[in-house]
Amino acid sequence: MHELGITRNIVAIVSDHAGASQVSRVALQIGALSAVMPDAIRFCFDICAKNTVVEGAQLEIEEVPGRGRCQRCGREFALDKPFGQCICGSRQIACIAGEEMKIKEMETI
Ligand SMILES: [Zn+2]
Repeated sequence: MHELGITRNIVAIVSDHAGASQVSRVALQIGALSAVMPDAIRFCFDICAKNTVVEGAQLEIEEVPGRGRCQRCGREFALDKPFGQCICGSRQIACIAGEEMKIKEMETI
């Protein structure tokens, strides 16, 4: 479960930014194609946050749907996996959304 390591990193980054302040809210963006499971992050968050300034913070996860752009015809469409085929027949699809995993916002008390 690589989410434990990812969540540890998230808590470490948020703690660094918070300094001595108590963190009340953390908002993440997780792309549908990022291979990160939001439920696993939720599960790991409380464990990783324990005994840090992030303990007790509210966790919000925004899931970003996958989007691709055809390199041949320029059409954009939804992707549910990091590859696909355009209706023009091209398989040269650039993933333009859905691979991100980032900390969007945090709030301290
Ligand atoms: Zn196309």
